[in-house]
Amino acid sequence: MNIKHTLFFSAILAGSSLIANAQAKPQDTEFYTPVPPVVTPGKTNADAPSDAIVLFDGKNLDQWTMTDNRGTPASWTVADAILTVNKRSGNIETVKSFGNYQLHIEWRVPANITGEGQARGNSGVFLASLGKGDAGYELQVLDSYNNKTYVNGQAGSIYKQFVPLVNVSKAPGEWQTYDVVWIAPTFNDDTTVKTPARVTVFHNGVLVQNNVTLLGPTQYIGQASYTNAKFGPAPIKLQAHGDRSEPLSFRNIWVREL
Ligand code: MG
Repeated sequence: MNIKHTLFFSAILAGSSLIANAQAKPQDTEFYTPVPPVVTPGKTNADAPSDAIVLFDGKNLDQWTMTDNRGTPASWTVADAILTVNKRSGNIETVKSFGNYQLHIEWRVPANITGEGQARGNSGVFLASLGKGDAGYELQVLDSYNNKTYVNGQAGSIYKQFVPLVNVSKAPGEWQTYDVVWIAPTFNDDTTVKTPARVTVFHNGVLVQNNVTLLGPTQYIGQASYTNAKFGPAPIKLQAHGDRSEPLSFRNIWVREL
């Protein structure tokens, strides 16, 4: 074998080892960093995990303020470890603002509820409060157990935008849960929307809003849009709806920033 042959066969050997090296191994797609932070789960999936910010644990409203007069302590009723709407005092919202988050909140329509349609156990969770009154993005709270109304305004709806996938309401007097993933909208410098808000909602553990893309903040009359909607992190707001039915209660409210 002359030098040319030697070089030729060496090249073939080198080539085949390259091919062998190029063959994928399981380890090629197995990563060890970054390591996800350790979180201790709650006793049940309804209990706050270790990295949650507890917004209401039955004791006080230190995390809440009046929406129309921020800085004023929230004046809803705390008794027997639950929070009950004070319709006369108005909406309340968190002192702290949030961007993207996971929220758990429990609510109960009173067993003796009266009224019908939107005037029967109406409240709401504004996923991002945009200031006074009902400005913001409302996840509807309503007695929808046996109570007809427009379907994009029933419990589990993103009010006047998205109908819940199913009606999984419990009877008045029973506690119900919402578990929400909120992805806040982002905006360009000129206030036009860059990425719209998205939301996923589980009602009593059942998926009712599957990563829906919101059209803008809730609009009572007319089409929602992001016109001049630019804002950053925002409080989470609870609605004191101005109807005459008996007021709702809330408990066990916690949030995880994402
Ligand atoms: Mg409402």
